[in-house]
Amino acid sequence: MSWSKQQIKLKSTEQVDKMQASAEILASVFLEVRNLVRPGVTTKALDESIEAMIRDANCIPSFKGYHGFPAAACISIDEEVVHGIPGDRVLVEGSIVGIDIGLIKDNWHADSAETLPVGEIGPAAAKLLTVTEECLQRAIASIEVGRRLSVIGIAVEDHARANGYSVVETLVGHGIGLNLHEDPQVPNFRCFTMPDPVMEEGLVIAIEPMINEGTKRVVTARDQWTVITADKGLSAHFEHTVAVTSAGPRVLTRRESGIAALPETRQPAD
Ligand code: MG
Ligand code: MG
Repeated sequence: MSWSKQQIKLKSTEQVDKMQASAEILASVFLEVRNLVRPGVTTKALDESIEAMIRDANCIPSFKGYHGFPAAACISIDEEVVHGIPGDRVLVEGSIVGIDIGLIKDNWHADSAETLPVGEIGPAAAKLLTVTEECLQRAIASIEVGRRLSVIGIAVEDHARANGYSVVETLVGHGIGLNLHEDPQVPNFRCFTMPDPVMEEGLVIAIEPMINEGTKRVVTARDQWTVITADKGLSAHFEHTVAVTSAGPRVLTRRESGIAALPETRQPAD
């Protein structure tokens, strides 16, 4: 895509308020999902619960049918990065499970993800979750009207690398609004091949760092959806829908951290 072909659809405050309404429902779905993630549950059962919650709130799952995706949630376990298809796989103690959900209310999309521990997890997995959520927080903190979008990728990459991790580069964040995926693309790394617009009031983006324990390289599974680390190392993913305002970033899908209770397992990187 050439720089001039970018079509960023800035939102009015009234439109951001509508997106906030979608996002708040999504945040409440995540609070419920956290209670459902435990050993013995299948990813299909989780997805069915998620879809029921979305429809009970008179919303539509964004992902179901999107390019043929068969479920309401993408559920990705351990070395699965994103786009895992819910099925008969059973969650086991010690795994980490990435849950990515989008929904539509009154035509406005919200998109968010978090990676959760299944029961007790080891220190390596706990550190990966903590650092990945911090990458998202640092990305959000870097947002300011007048700055270039690339500050987001720099914030994510620097924090991931300082902790010995790599950043997935083949998948990126995105603008969001009346469409699930809008311009601009939002890379989680220093990227010199995508447009780097100046952030303006009314820009609404889904920021979604995907952080790997080992190599940044990923492959797509035989199901044509699930993205997996090439070295089968662990991967984590956190995502918020965020509006850029002159008063600072407005995190539309904001909620308490789902992993704050994890034991402190790491030394601060800086
Ligand atoms: Mg998502
Ligand atoms: Mg997204």
